Amino acid sequence: MCLTCLGSAMMATPGIAAPEIFPDHAPAPRWLGDNAPTGSITWTGCAGLVFDVDGQRICFDPFVSNPGVVDTFARPARSDERRVRAAFGDVAAAFVGHTHWDHAMDVATVAADGADIYGSATTVEVCRRQGVAESQLHTVRDGSRVTVGPFTVDAIASRHGLVPIANKIDVIELRGKGLPRSPFRWPRGDVFAYRLEVGGTSVHIQTSAGIEDAPLQRQQPVDILFACLAARQGTPDYFDRLAATLQPRVLIPCHHDNFLVSQDKPPRPVARLDWPAFLDVAARLQRRYGTRLVQLPRGVAVAF
Ligand SMILES: [Zn+2]
Ligand SMILES: [Zn+2]
Repeated sequence: MCLTCLGSAMMATPGIAAPEIFPDHAPAPRWLGDNAPTGSITWTGCAGLVFDVDGQRICFDPFVSNPGVVDTFARPARSDERRVRAAFGDVAAAFVGHTHWDHAMDVATVAADGADIYGSATTVEVCRRQGVAESQLHTVRDGSRVTVGPFTVDAIASRHGLVPIANKIDVIELRGKGLPRSPFRWPRGDVFAYRLEVGGTSVHIQTSAGIEDAPLQRQQPVDILFACLAARQGTPDYFDRLAATLQPRVLIPCHHDNFLVSQDKPPRPVARLDWPAFLDVAARLQRRYGTRLVQLPRGVAVAF
C-alpha cells in the first residue's frame, strides 16, 4: 500500500485522523506556551528556517531554488534570486549545516544582501569562490558560539544521513578551482547541527539525519527539536538518541519535502519518507517525554 492509500485509509476510519504530511495552516496560537519570545519561525522547505525576533532575523540552511532533476544533475547551480530574497531578505546571518546544494546553493545570494555566513570550511570556500567578501565568512567548529542580535547559536558537530547509492558517489571535499559542474556535485564537507537560544527559548536544529554521539550528549534539553526526516533510516534509533538527550517539549519535522520539485508546486514527500513510521515515533516520544508534534506549513511565518 502506498502512503497516499494508507493515509486515506486512516482518514476513512472513524476516530482516527492521522496528521497530514504538509498542512497548509499554522498550529494553534501559543503552541510553544506562554513564555515564548515575541517572534516568528518560518520553515522555508528542506532544512531551511528563518527566525524573526524583535525585527531581527537569522536563517539556517537557506535553500528555495529547488532545481529540477535535469538541472540538478546536468547544469551548474543557479540560484533563483527573486525567490531567495523573498524568503531570506534582511537576515543578519545564515548558518549552514553542510555544503550539499539543498543546504548551501542559495547561501551566496543571501550573502549578497550583506548577511554573515557561518558554516564549515567547505561552505566558506564555496562562498568565497562565488565572490562573498572575506569579512562575511566565518568557519565554525564543534562548540563554536556566535551571538547575533538576540540570538545565540552553538555549532554541534554532526553527521550526514545515509542516502542509499548516493552515499557511494557523494563528493566529500571541494577540489580544483571554481564551482562544481552541477548541484549534485556540490561537496558535503563537515556536518553541523545547531542549538539556538533566544529570549529563554531553546531550539535544536538537526540539519541532517546522522548523529555524532559525544557532541549530541553534551547538549541540554530543549524546547523545540527540528529534525531532518530525509535519509534517517540509516541512523539506528535516530529519534530515540536525539530525544534521550534533548527531551524536546515540541518536535517539528523538516527536510521531508522533495527538493527536486519546484516550490511553485505544493510540497511532496521526499523519497522514503515513511510518514506512518514517523508518526509512531512521535507518539512514542509523547509517551516518554511529553513531546508534542507540531507541524509548520511551508513558507509561512508562524508566530511563537
Ligand atoms: Zn546532504
Ligand atoms: Zn539535505
